[in-house]
Amino acid sequence: MKKVLITGAAGFLGSHLCDRFINEGYHVIGMDNLITGDLKNIEHLFKLKNFEFYDHDVSKFVHIPGSLDYILHFASPASPIDYLKIPIQTLKVGSLGTHNLLGLAKEKNARILIASTSEVYGDPLVHPQTEDYYGNVNTIGPRGVYDEAKRFQESITMAYHTYHKVETRIVRIFNTYGPRMRLNDGRVVPAFIGQALRGEDLTVFGDGSQTRSFCYVDDLIEGIYRLLFSDYVYPVNIGNPNEITISDFAEEIIRLTGTDQKVIYKPLPVNDPLQRQPDITRAKEILDWQPKIDRSEGMKETLEYFKSLSEEELYRSEH
Ligand code: NAD
Ligand code: UDP
Repeated sequence: MKKVLITGAAGFLGSHLCDRFINEGYHVIGMDNLITGDLKNIEHLFKLKNFEFYDHDVSKFVHIPGSLDYILHFASPASPIDYLKIPIQTLKVGSLGTHNLLGLAKEKNARILIASTSEVYGDPLVHPQTEDYYGNVNTIGPRGVYDEAKRFQESITMAYHTYHKVETRIVRIFNTYGPRMRLNDGRVVPAFIGQALRGEDLTVFGDGSQTRSFCYVDDLIEGIYRLLFSDYVYPVNIGNPNEITISDFAEEIIRLTGTDQKVIYKPLPVNDPLQRQPDITRAKEILDWQPKIDRSEGMKETLEYFKSLSEEELYRSEH
């Protein structure tokens, strides 16, 4: 049985990756220090013989006994609220954590895929964003801790590929949503759905003309799976090109939830990107991948998940 290590396993994307690799017949080792994740996301796996879990901070030396075939490095705070609250840990997991996992990949002769992000493009001056665009990031702005950690992560990954011949893959993930997102992580999808379910007004930051393009989690996981097993070492955008303004998205959530909430406007966070849309030509050509689930279908699934949470979870406030 092939063995795969998934870091960030208790988080949103990591837990879906664990499910996918378990379903494909792998032995899965999940690793997480639970700083933004929740064991509830993977508790259904604990009874399985081919699943193990290590509670460990990957910014510290990572040791795994025995052989290892694949590593998927997904550990990192991902929501702006999270990485602004824990900026140093964010920088460390993208840099030291990635270094540790690349070292592990080299020692075990394992293939490693790292989770990069559309944030490497910063507030993009090119639209839609192709992988060739170098980006527009404010290194010392509040989001710099995440963006620059991810940019460093890509550089050290390519260096390990070039100098140590480690088999590496880099996925640039665009805004992804779905079940198991943390209701209070501050990202716009859980923020709006949570507000609608609690009967609160929806908070649009800025004038709401900024855009995002939302990809359903199942589509993303399929793209990542294909990339891991391709032979392509350069970054690949994975996301859904269907772009929408944040104010239109708020109206969409109001219609979907059937509430009569209003939209209220709050200040735009510093360096909040004005537009974001992936160019997925590369993913189409190399992976024969494109998203299949449209926003209305994906949001319905996501709403069902948030509705299934307890009252206590719905009203729990972290901020
Ligand atoms: P998440 O916060 O739900 O999951 C991240 C997980 O990593 C959490 O379980 C957290 O506890 C764990 N973690 C953080 N630091 C750690 C450390 N030092 N050691 C061990 N575990 C640690 O976030 P997510 O949305 O699942 O994002 C997962 C990855 O995908 C991140 O690397 C993120 O940058 C990337 N990504 C996500 C999106 C998205 O839209 N969800 C977009 C771009 C990139
Ligand atoms: N946003 C918003 N209201 C909220 C949360 C977010 O208007 O309650 C906006 C945010 O300013 C950004 C967009 O929605 O323009 C997406 O934010 P998110 O944190 O989900 O992701 P990111 O900015 O990292 O793409």
